[in-house]
Amino acid sequence: MKPLTIAIDGPSGAGKSTVADVVCQKLNILHLDTGAMYRAVGLCALEMGIDPYDEAAVSRMCEEGKALVDVKYQDGKQITLLNGRDVSPLIRTQEVGGAASAVSRYVPVRTMLVKRQQEMAAAQPMLLDGRDIGTVVLPDATVKIFLTASAEERARRRMLQLQEKGTFTPFEEVLAEVNARDLQDTTRDLTPLRQAEDAILVDGTNITFDETVEIILKLVEEKYGK
Ligand code: C5P
Repeated sequence: MKPLTIAIDGPSGAGKSTVADVVCQKLNILHLDTGAMYRAVGLCALEMGIDPYDEAAVSRMCEEGKALVDVKYQDGKQITLLNGRDVSPLIRTQEVGGAASAVSRYVPVRTMLVKRQQEMAAAQPMLLDGRDIGTVVLPDATVKIFLTASAEERARRRMLQLQEKGTFTPFEEVLAEVNARDLQDTTRDLTPLRQAEDAILVDGTNITFDETVEIILKLVEEKYGK
């Protein structure tokens, strides 16, 4: 039997990563946050003084093996490596998120990262979250979920997160960023964010976090057994 694979796709701020962490703890499987890998490539460009919107320069950086991204696990927690260095604490900024969204549009970046994601998922039971997991990375995933929430709800959650970190950003500003990221992710030429035909839509706008986790666990149980 193939290892269990769970694909969770959806827009930024839908809560994919937090939901995925809890689902993985309950099922005792590893969680691969693929966005972290794109963030590592974005960080690499910024650190090397390369404009993330310069397709030729970003492509060269990848093809010359200057942006080697890998993932390891420590106590079940993902550590994202860039050229062997743990960059997990550096990739959560808005700046790196924007760079990730820019570099993720280029073929050499996606080819390099998709290959690594597929290798990892073939080796062990895993949950992968991202934008193209159900459509490109794991078209045969055991369970495919498209997790979304309204842009307003995602902006509200993002604003609260920022507040917890001591940053007060007006709602309108956060909402504009959410909309801009959605536009970039859904309109790019290469594998734009879209729901796979056989993915189950879970709209988290009006349900709680726990309810979202329960829905996903139930779907896994139905498809894969306990
Ligand atoms: O999920 P997260 O916001 O950390 O991802 C950062 C960026 O990486 C996204 O805005 C998206 O452009 C890109 N990404 C992608 N494919 C994935 C995961 C993330 O293109 N599987």
